[in-house]
Amino acid sequence: DDGDSPYAHSPSVDIKDSRGWDDVSVYNAKKKNYAWFQAPDGNWELAKILSVSGTESLIAFSETKVVKVQSACLLPANPEILDGIDDLIQLSYLSEPSVLYNLQYRYDRDMIYSKAGPVLVAINPFKTIPLYGDDYIEAYKRKKKDSPHVYAIADTAIREMIRDEVNQSIVISGESGAGKTETAKIAMQYLAAVRGGTGIEYEILKTNPILEGFGNAKTARNDNSSRFGKLIEIHFSEIGRISGASIQTFLLEKSRVVQCTEGERSYHSFYQLCAGAPPSLREKLNLKSVHEYKYLQQSNCYTIPGINDAEEFGIVVEALDIVHVSKEDQENVFAMIAAVLWLGNVTFSTVDDNNHVEPVIDEALQTVAKLLGCEAEQLQIALSTKKMTISGENIIQKLTLTQASDSRDALAKSIYSCLFDWLVEQINKSLSAGKRQSGRSISILDIYGFESFDEYIQDGIDWAKVDFEDNQACLSLFEKLNPNLRSSQKPLGLLTLLDEETTFPNGTDMSFANKLKQHLNSNPCFKGERGKAFTVRHYAGDVTYDTTGFLEKNRDLLHLVSIQLLSSCKCKLPRIFASNMLSLSEKPAVVSINKSGGADSQKLSVMLKFKGQLFQLMQRLGKTSSHFIRCIKPNNSHSPGIYNQQLVLQQLKCCGVLEVVRISRSGYPTRMTHQKFARRYGFLLFDHVASQDPLTASVAILQQFGILPEMYQVGYTKLFFRTGQIGKLEDTRNST
Ligand code: ATP
Ligand code: MG
Repeated sequence: DDGDSPYAHSPSVDIKDSRGWDDVSVYNAKKKNYAWFQAPDGNWELAKILSVSGTESLIAFSETKVVKVQSACLLPANPEILDGIDDLIQLSYLSEPSVLYNLQYRYDRDMIYSKAGPVLVAINPFKTIPLYGDDYIEAYKRKKKDSPHVYAIADTAIREMIRDEVNQSIVISGESGAGKTETAKIAMQYLAAVRGGTGIEYEILKTNPILEGFGNAKTARNDNSSRFGKLIEIHFSEIGRISGASIQTFLLEKSRVVQCTEGERSYHSFYQLCAGAPPSLREKLNLKSVHEYKYLQQSNCYTIPGINDAEEFGIVVEALDIVHVSKEDQENVFAMIAAVLWLGNVTFSTVDDNNHVEPVIDEALQTVAKLLGCEAEQLQIALSTKKMTISGENIIQKLTLTQASDSRDALAKSIYSCLFDWLVEQINKSLSAGKRQSGRSISILDIYGFESFDEYIQDGIDWAKVDFEDNQACLSLFEKLNPNLRSSQKPLGLLTLLDEETTFPNGTDMSFANKLKQHLNSNPCFKGERGKAFTVRHYAGDVTYDTTGFLEKNRDLLHLVSIQLLSSCKCKLPRIFASNMLSLSEKPAVVSINKSGGADSQKLSVMLKFKGQLFQLMQRLGKTSSHFIRCIKPNNSHSPGIYNQQLVLQQLKCCGVLEVVRISRSGYPTRMTHQKFARRYGFLLFDHVASQDPLTASVAILQQFGILPEMYQVGYTKLFFRTGQIGKLEDTRNST
């Protein structure tokens, strides 16, 4: 019955009448003349071509399903001998379905790793698979195994670091829940096992439970979702042993501390502490059960199936011991966690006819004050007033309920994010203590997953979406990363414009959107949309952003009064946090923001921090030789054995894997990074602009020398050339 058939648009043919079906037995035995046909639901299915007449083909999907289709809708399938090959570039026919099929073939057999040219593709198995551990490590180390694996990538990184004396990086990307963090740990385990020896590698591995405890949370996508980006640089001694490490983290999602969607959780650390703290600590911190805290109540989700928070607490404490955080400091840390929880329970009551409020002095307020080491009255003032400077005069203003709740939440967010940064600092001290370094390193980058845009503007634009591996044009849209340009020449980037608009008293999301259109329309990666929206042409594809809420998200509402409160606290950590916040705000850029905007409070712009970090990251990675791992999530239900073609395809497209395979096998044997190319041939440019970014310079060189477009491809970080092209340039270079 055609009505229910997914192939309703093509006539179904009775199997027995169809020509060629007499070789039914051969159908199963021999895969010959097979082709891919895309069903209306978008899935690709393998079909046998029974006959071809004119523009139509008769194809069979099974012994009972034969249809007539347009031949143009068919894509040739690869010979069976290629089923499940290691590297996608070896496929004879390269098409979406053949790539999808090959990956699925391997996935079904627990071969979750494949190569796509230079890129390692890792498909999340959502179950334990026997591919790890000492035997496997040994096999990869001795080169007894060469099938694609994270171990093989880590091994190559070590070898190249030693051979070429160049720092390496392993860049892991993918959607939330695709397996980036697990992959990063697997890579770290390999490095530790193969290049450890001094004991420091053990400390390095123990940073994981700490960072995950304080920076990971259960989300709709992933029960253990990293809400921060992480770059861990592992240092090596002269003899190639691990000698230390340093960790850099990016933009912890602060909003989660005070606000969390149904079914998700706040950071693991809150639940771990409430579940695992021993009685004496519970008493000191006045700890209650998780159900008693408003910040945790909102999402109505307190546990994660299969996870014992009390046990996890023990693991985190042990890890803190190992990275030399003293027991006293550990208690300080837990006091801050408890203070944040109690802050959420602070309530307000109206005090005058103008809707001004004050916090109620109750158990919540008193406990927070005690945990921070201040007077309850001081805390009361900090949460209900703000200081403004108008024409040089200091004015104290009272807050309304909304403003006061915001200031309470801002304080909670700041305490938590400062605590996270402080922990990272302690870890770094421990990992670098007294270790002599050779200057060689392998960096592992685990950038957190992007979800819907709503979610990732919470703390500013998610930098994970910024495809730093490629695409200078797109990057320059976000920010001009060229410090050599004088400020008058500097084209304004999206981030600068956002910062600017945030500081204008009359700035709105709409005026911001209009500014973007005004300044960025000439950038090929930018497209203004109707109303408050705009589109960015990322390497992977177009993404449309709605600017609603951008300005508010970029403002950090922590008032000076709150910072001053923290700085006057008796406890150590609040004072450290306050001084860190003030040192950030003393940077010239922020001072000028305050001047120009007549700002009433310390607006510690998220973007400002973000820009600095992005710039640093670009610089650091730019100097290394990179290895790429793309993690793929095969289904949204976190289940083993389910391979959703459309989901996989979308991710392969999004991260450019198909592109890489295409370029890698299409006969462009010569590769050169944009940087190297620009450096080597840049001086040949007629109107040579020293400050041009490498991609722009490279393209200018290619054009000036009339290299035909079909002779090269502009890739991720590199240019790809057909044979002979570089020779021409070299000749010119040598004769100049
Ligand atoms: P996010 O961006 O949200 O942080 P992620 O890409 O870091 O996501 P992970 O936390 O690494 O994702 O992985 C999600 C889950 O998938 C893990 O908790 C684990 O259950 C499973 N998983 C990932 N990789 C593997 C693997 N190699 N073997 C077994 N299970 C895995
Ligand atoms: Mg992660």
